Amino acid sequence: MTDKKVCAFCDSEITSINDSKEHVIPNSIGGRKKIRGFLCLTCNNSFGQSWDATLATQLNWFSLAVGIERDRSNNPDQIVRTVDGTELLLRANGTMTRKDPFFEITESEGKARIRLFARNEREYREMLRGIKKKYPNFDLDGELKNIQVMPFRVDSPQQYRLELGGPVAGRSLVKTAIAECAAVGILPYRCEIGIRTLKTPSDNSGFALFYIRDIVVNRPKDMLFHLVAILGDSEKGFLLAYVEYFGVMRVMVKLSSKYEGESFTSVYAINPQSSENLNLFVNWDIPTNEMDAAFNGFGVVKKNFDFACKNATAIASHSRLKRERQYVYREELSSVLSQLGIQPGGIPEPKDRERFNRLMDEKVGPFSELIKEHPKMPTLKK
Ligand SMILES: [Zn+2]
Repeated sequence: MTDKKVCAFCDSEITSINDSKEHVIPNSIGGRKKIRGFLCLTCNNSFGQSWDATLATQLNWFSLAVGIERDRSNNPDQIVRTVDGTELLLRANGTMTRKDPFFEITESEGKARIRLFARNEREYREMLRGIKKKYPNFDLDGELKNIQVMPFRVDSPQQYRLELGGPVAGRSLVKTAIAECAAVGILPYRCEIGIRTLKTPSDNSGFALFYIRDIVVNRPKDMLFHLVAILGDSEKGFLLAYVEYFGVMRVMVKLSSKYEGESFTSVYAINPQSSENLNLFVNWDIPTNEMDAAFNGFGVVKKNFDFACKNATAIASHSRLKRERQYVYREELSSVLSQLGIQPGGIPEPKDRERFNRLMDEKVGPFSELIKEHPKMPTLKK
């Protein structure tokens, strides 16, 4: 075999016409680095829609919570349940809302009591018009004037289902490992086990969940990251990869047992929010019995797995809350400014300052931590 560029999957020759820019880490979870000459266009599209899409679904809650920005479109809303059973939607801007609108009218002693929850202003207007139809003396105009859109506050603990791995998402991770090899100069066909895994749907022996030990030496405590580490071991002839996403997805990948090049290690790690590169280290000093255990299906040590999930969820939740507060603040700031007749981005006159602060307090009050983070009023120099 020569080193000419062929598609890692279908072996068709890669030319300038069918070459694709493949994301080493899927773009849907925040990957930015791309390589050329790795997959043909057809394979790139097909695996994006199957393997990568399944992986993105498994990690969607994290992508939404930390605010992953994709090249095209947002990540889809994610259903989350509170422990009392209400279904919520987590959205790409970090806010949450009820999954379904809610509308209830109870009548007693000639009076109507209305309870409603609308997910957006348009839905709210529709509901109000519905009330007007039924109760002609309802003050529709007055209500419409006082319209106030606030994100839904969730006080009850939430739960979501976390499913990780499996043969479909697993192949996305194998593909990423081979792509990263290509990025560091090892041609895909030299990853014979990895390629066989991609091509043989029934053979899942080439990748394994790995929560037996934490091999990331300088793991950041307050940040989630994506990492692809490669080990080339000339003595044993191994080419291995370790891929980790958002702290929760941790997978070992066997790439080759015929590696003949020089021994090396490489780590590619990024902050998926900012896509800045991170300087992380991996300790490949893993006892053989642990590696064997993982590839025999015993890679999930419950205590370590639970710890990883708890940690990652806490970091992502914190990030979501911060983004929600920023969103609420921006929305309310522009609404208060417009109430005071001030252009967006403008600063209230000293005479309006008291009113500005009061209005902001009324609107953003429930998000009191926000006010600590963002001083309400830009102070004017005298
Ligand atoms: Zn192809």
